[in-house]
Amino acid sequence: TPFPIILVGRVQRGFGRGGKDLGCPTANLPDESIIPMSSIANTGVYYGYAQVVTPSGDSTPMHPRDNGVLPMVMSLGWNPFYKNEKLTAEIHIMHEFDKDFYGFEMRAVVLGYIRPELDYTSREALIDDIEFDKQVALNCLERPEYRKYAQDPHFDLRC
Ligand code: ADP
Ligand code: MG
Repeated sequence: TPFPIILVGRVQRGFGRGGKDLGCPTANLPDESIIPMSSIANTGVYYGYAQVVTPSGDSTPMHPRDNGVLPMVMSLGWNPFYKNEKLTAEIHIMHEFDKDFYGFEMRAVVLGYIRPELDYTSREALIDDIEFDKQVALNCLERPEYRKYAQDPHFDLRC
């Protein structure tokens, strides 16, 4: 897979399960934003950087530090645990936001693959794996060669 993969789109409403059910909110990208990635990449869990940009052309990112570019884990898949019928791309940004950002533009640079999509016999097993994925992502992003992608011109760096 040719990394980095660039993604952009307005955050969509999903079924509201990530945050409530799994303790891990995931910002869902619209279908058309997924196509460039799904046509070349396998389903599974990925890591990289993401940025939430405030609406109405205002370039001020949600989070002032580092232009609001933050580590993320992303799931590209059919969510077999929930028997979804369509492919989704969902990004969990590793930051505590004080409010939701539905409708805001989200930009992401996907840098690597963590694991394929797995099915789980319990919600707890899925939650454990998500926690492990976050640790893997943070460890991978420690590599100095990756840091430069936080400054990628794909992100809004005007702040
Ligand atoms: P949905 O099914 O609508 O995607 P989730 O429970 O997955 O519902 O929650 C996702 C929403 O939570 C995002 O669209 C965003 O507005 C908000 N959110 C708050 N904090 C985060 C975060 N750290 N990462 C991703 N989304 C977050
Ligand atoms: Mg979600």
